[in-house]
Amino acid sequence: MAIAATHSGTSVALPVISGAQLLPWAVFGGLLLVLMVYFVGAEQGATSLIQGREVHEFVHDARHLLGFPCH
Ligand SMILES: [Zn+2]
Repeated sequence: MAIAATHSGTSVALPVISGAQLLPWAVFGGLLLVLMVYFVGAEQGATSLIQGREVHEFVHDARHLLGFPCH
């Protein structure tokens, strides 16, 4: 099913995305978001899955900006 949108005289068919089609992408995006918050907020701080200090140094300013406890 498509909705026709007109722009300057030409009609373009736009796809309609249903909630069922959107759900797996919403879950995927949510997982990426949780992973990002983990790496910014806790990795090599409260917890450490990766050895070294590179992740901590890379996200350090974002960690302080967002108010996560650091040092
Ligand atoms: Zn810090």
